[in-house]
Amino acid sequence: MDQKLRNADAPGVKSAVRAMSGYTLVQPDCPVKLNQNECPFDVPAELKREIVDEALASNWGRYPSFVPGEVKAAIGERHGLGPEHVLIGNGSNELIQSIFQAAVSTGDAVVLPAPTFTLYALMGRISGAEIRTVHLKRDLSFDVDRLEEESAQSDVRLVVLCSPNNPTGSMISPEDTARIADATAGLVVVDEAYFEFVGVSCIELLERHPNLVITRTFSKALGAAGLRLGYLVADPAVARELEKVKLPYNVNIISLIAARKLIGQDALIEERASMIRSERQRVFEALRGLPGIKPHPSHANFILFEAERPVAGIFHGLIERGVLIRDVSRYPMLERGMRVTIGLPEENDAFLEALREVLATQD
Ligand code: PMP
Repeated sequence: MDQKLRNADAPGVKSAVRAMSGYTLVQPDCPVKLNQNECPFDVPAELKREIVDEALASNWGRYPSFVPGEVKAAIGERHGLGPEHVLIGNGSNELIQSIFQAAVSTGDAVVLPAPTFTLYALMGRISGAEIRTVHLKRDLSFDVDRLEEESAQSDVRLVVLCSPNNPTGSMISPEDTARIADATAGLVVVDEAYFEFVGVSCIELLERHPNLVITRTFSKALGAAGLRLGYLVADPAVARELEKVKLPYNVNIISLIAARKLIGQDALIEERASMIRSERQRVFEALRGLPGIKPHPSHANFILFEAERPVAGIFHGLIERGVLIRDVSRYPMLERGMRVTIGLPEENDAFLEALREVLATQD
């Protein structure tokens, strides 16, 4: 479309936004859905019932309490921290947005590894930031020396590290994260959305590195993506500033009840995460045995794999067989990349079977 016409269609929208293509997702209806790194298990019915009963007994005509102190305390306690370290979000993505709003002004620099979760670059562009990209190494590990070097530049306000990283499944160690936090005068966000599948966290670093902010979500191992719940932990001084930016009453009363009920479900979470980890190993081995397919080791609930053949044919061949995964071939470095979420054993089998068929039928 003609640029002038496009601008006229959206009068008043800033050019940084008009220039963006936006976060979109093509989602054909497939019975086997392994494209969004969701949990294959729903919240157990009895827990749902408890949440709904409590929601029914509450007054929906009132706003939630100004500070959801009880939920903040329950989350903080899990990490040996007081509620003053915790903010709760309508999904962790909302909190990441608040961090960008609080930390980044037009012209500031933001350091991002690549490839990584696309939301960070989107937020950076909306903030008018200059994005400094540090590519992963060829084996998809983080280039810690270069990240440290770039993060040390005086105009850097924010560094975002996703660990385990979406879509590669690779991770950065707490020691290397600490190096980057020491090197920069900006904030360092560690997005630990996939924490439960690896068990390694940077939260313990907070005490000595007050410029760290760690985000977590209820959308992955906790199986509650539909409720939109996430949280961050930070130094109390940083949390206080971020609180000013976050919208008041951002999390609704039903989700707050659910957060309180779900956060203590350690046995359930571990049982599910451990099933995903063993299925991940099984799917990885199976992929490794397929001709022209190279899976990358993963610490998350998905596997990135590359194919010798063009991605489009494989991706659509899988859709025709009722299996939806994610085509990540437009991410930097991943021209032959696809990402499959680890699902239930039967879903993983359906994926592997469909992939075998697709590989056998194409030339
Ligand atoms: N961070 C990363 C790296 C993710 O991949 C995802 C899921 N797409 C999220 C966060 C989820 O965010 P939310 O808590 O808003 O569901």
